[in-house]
Amino acid sequence: MKKVAVIGAGISGLTIANHLNKIAKVTVFEKSAGYGGRLATRYASPFTFDHGAQYFKATTSEFKSFLKPLIAKGIVKVWKACFHEIKESKVYKKYQWNNENPHYVGVPNMNSVGSYLAKNLDIHLNTTIKAIDRMTDSKIWQLTDNKGKNFQNFDWVIVAIPANQASQLLPSNIVFYQSLASCRMQSCFSLMLGFDNPLLLNFDAAYVDDPIISWVSLNHTKPNRSTAYSILINSTNNWADSHSGYDKNYLLTTLCKRFEIIFNCNTDHAIHRDIHFWRYANTSRKNSPLLLVDYDFQLASCGDWCFHGRVESAFLVAKNLAANIHSHL
Ligand SMILES: Cc1cc2nc3c(=O)[nH]c(=O)nc-3n(C[C@H](O)[C@H](O)[C@H](O)COP(=O)(O)OP(=O)(O)OC[C@H]3O[C@@H](n4cnc5c(N)ncnc54)[C@H](O)[C@@H]3O)c2cc1C
Repeated sequence: MKKVAVIGAGISGLTIANHLNKIAKVTVFEKSAGYGGRLATRYASPFTFDHGAQYFKATTSEFKSFLKPLIAKGIVKVWKACFHEIKESKVYKKYQWNNENPHYVGVPNMNSVGSYLAKNLDIHLNTTIKAIDRMTDSKIWQLTDNKGKNFQNFDWVIVAIPANQASQLLPSNIVFYQSLASCRMQSCFSLMLGFDNPLLLNFDAAYVDDPIISWVSLNHTKPNRSTAYSILINSTNNWADSHSGYDKNYLLTTLCKRFEIIFNCNTDHAIHRDIHFWRYANTSRKNSPLLLVDYDFQLASCGDWCFHGRVESAFLVAKNLAANIHSHL
């Protein structure tokens, strides 16, 4: 059996690992302590915040089929949110999300989807891969982690991490390097606020047309979440790109003030405040998905950034890559 290393245990890495696990010996390496990558939930008792992906949709038959058993097991549920679109403090559209146009979330948290996919895999958590090298006089790959530990004898290496990080890890003489290096990802701040007294907001989720804030959701309105009043606010990607490295208190204060102005409210009584910076959060849409594989080097790369920057895209791109590599294993 061929040996395959997958770097990254987000949806794309876990998807390809599951597909190839049937025909190869697959080992997954993940730098964080859990599964799911940007499909993530942060706990700050009694509050919970889905500080990465807010929800996901299923537009293709492949992703719908994948979700079916997760829905049957209660790992994925529909978020029936009252959704507003807001500009200059005015609501210009309102929808009630329902089963007809489902907006899904992981249950009881976003990571549940990653944990489900990780069940039958050999995964090294807390392992940041720093280098991919050929073993002496061979075509076989060796990985080195941030502690200097080596993992050897891989026939194939699949790098399922954000494009900017993948381009630092992969050699520049592979056939898809230019396509990879030209993928630009943008950042995002997630502001998390917890209250013991609710604010007067009459929606569960809101898209905001504003230069600083792009999204607000009341996390406790998602199915099976903590009932403690938890607000998640996303900055726009452009604002995050131009404010990376700024002082945390400045960022917290600026985003809170902007939220207060748009929603005519006060956040001074928040009993929990935190902010998370996603350096590689989003990517611009592509017309067709990238297939990044070098059959000679036996290296490949995938992620949401190969298509639409969405959970469904991460799944589709990985599934397609697995189908292409399949006959080479
Ligand atoms: C704030 C925010 C809001 C979003 N909202 C939505 C939404 O509403 N709907 C939607 O569909 N999508 C949304 N997305 C996008 C969605 O989260 C992603 O499309 C999807 O989760 C990407 O999955 P992935 O597997 O491609 O990448 P990731 O989830 O980024 O997985 C990559 C994994 O690789 C690991 N890794 C990185 N470098 C290394 C290394 N050197 N060694 C080992 N491991 C490494 C990371 O820790 C991570 O676990 C949002 C994203 C963010 C950040």
